Amino acid sequence: MNTVDTPSVLNKLITLTSERDVLALEQSLAEALFELVNASADSHAKYVIIFHPDDTRKQLSPSIIIGKSAEQCNFSLPFKQLLIDCFKSGRYSTYEQDSESHVSLYPIKNAKEHTIAIIAIEAMVCESQLHEVITSLLKIYQNFSRLINDNERDTLTGLLNRKTFDYKINKILLQIQELARLNNEKANQVYFLAIFDIDHFKRVNDEFGHLIGDEVLLLFSQLMTQTFRNTDLIFRFGGEEFVGIFECSSYEDISHILNRFREKVGQFNFPQVGKMTVSIGYTEIYAYDLSSLLIDHADLALYFAKNNGRNKICFYEQLIADGSLQENTKETDIELF
Ligand code: GH3
Ligand code: MG
Ligand code: MG
Repeated sequence: MNTVDTPSVLNKLITLTSERDVLALEQSLAEALFELVNASADSHAKYVIIFHPDDTRKQLSPSIIIGKSAEQCNFSLPFKQLLIDCFKSGRYSTYEQDSESHVSLYPIKNAKEHTIAIIAIEAMVCESQLHEVITSLLKIYQNFSRLINDNERDTLTGLLNRKTFDYKINKILLQIQELARLNNEKANQVYFLAIFDIDHFKRVNDEFGHLIGDEVLLLFSQLMTQTFRNTDLIFRFGGEEFVGIFECSSYEDISHILNRFREKVGQFNFPQVGKMTVSIGYTEIYAYDLSSLLIDHADLALYFAKNNGRNKICFYEQLIADGSLQENTKETDIELF
């Protein structure tokens, strides 16, 4: 039985491995799987959907949908339950939709073998040979996405690294420009860039040594990932400096989010070291800003927080509005933290 077209599979692999971004890679994978199932002689794909867990990890929602519109994605309760079971167990499972079609659920795992997403494929039939090809393709995808992930992330904290920052911020700027151009209702969202700098971190290294310093950095980064949403982008920018990009529905939202984090850090008991604080400077991201300007603005606000008692959040635009900072401050004279 030769129902899977080899050149077509190889072509999918070429497309897949040409991606350099995890999200683009997922999109490419979903398209490849859809085409692959359709290219197979006896099969016909109805959809390929990639599900990701929400922040609570108790629910999964579709992030990439091929072959269906988002409005058509009303899944039955048993199906949702099966998705959660598959996510928890990390095992492949199938679901009989009706006599003609069934859904296959494939878990996607990270380097630590934790399930991070589920791929659902609804097809007319699912021959074993096709199932094997899909499984192999998913293994290649996993290996490749781990490679991209390693390249994008900082080794100590697992956060995105500085190398990735320019690429990500420019993508976000393009998205905001596109939303503004289309007059999309999401254009009402506000975007912010924040720089976080741990207060008096040098003392930790001096008093307790670099290993304990590294542990503080790791715990600090974990507090960040626990506090912020999955959709917020968090970078380790340099030693004890971190950058976050946030999409919010209001200005109150961002100050609330950042203050909550600042308080959480202040309350946390760092083993051996005890209490630490953080200063945060942030600025609004406008569609036509340059990433270097955003960093300069957030950094000026951070510098202001450091000079005015530390353990606080300062908003660049507010500092300009109330005259605490001058718009044409010679930004290049101020050293980056
Ligand atoms: P401030 O409140 O003004 O931010 O004071 P600070 O002591 O935090 O000042 P500064 O930002 O100048 O110092 C940062 C220190 O972070 C200096 C450096 O020794 C330390 N550092 C940078 N990278 C690492 C790292 O990867 N591990 C450890 N343990 N320390 C680091
Ligand atoms: Mg510091
Ligand atoms: Mg610093």
